[in-house]
Amino acid sequence: MDWEPEASKELEKIPEHVRKMAKMGIETSVEKKGKNTVTLQDVREAAERFGALMEKDEKTTKIAVVRCDIVSETCPGVACFKAFNKRKVHFSQYDKDAEIVGFFTCGGCPGRRVFRLVDSLMKHGVDVIHLSSCMLMEMGYPKCPHIDEIKQMILKKGVKIVEGTHH
Ligand code: SF4
Repeated sequence: MDWEPEASKELEKIPEHVRKMAKMGIETSVEKKGKNTVTLQDVREAAERFGALMEKDEKTTKIAVVRCDIVSETCPGVACFKAFNKRKVHFSQYDKDAEIVGFFTCGGCPGRRVFRLVDSLMKHGVDVIHLSSCMLMEMGYPKCPHIDEIKQMILKKGVKIVEGTHH
């Protein structure tokens, strides 16, 4: 694939850590147009598409759900996902662009796994963590006796909490 000098110059404006990937993406889209030379226009179009994607990603609310490890032995989490998919109960405040980026268990009493997983989720831009209803209610299982410590672990990291999922 050939590159016009202006196109190569424009490519240099793309941050170095994503430039190689951007170059491959641009060449693929130019190939699809049946061309074998990248023009300045091609690079600008790609930058616009990329900008729109970044903007969308910035606006998207990223949600994670932590749930009880003991309850997870009998519950696959269907009700949590149903409530999210229909934006019901504790998910009713989200718009259609919100997405679940993590669904994990506490790792068993006293829930220390949460501490490390929140770090990992923060790298993926998590905005809010829901404590699943199974941690908060007495329904076949007692309420989580460690809920306050788990909440503190999350809040100390600066991540917002919503209490509940489908109940
Ligand atoms: S710490 Fe709480 S949520 Fe985790 S397994 Fe124990 S009871 Fe369940």
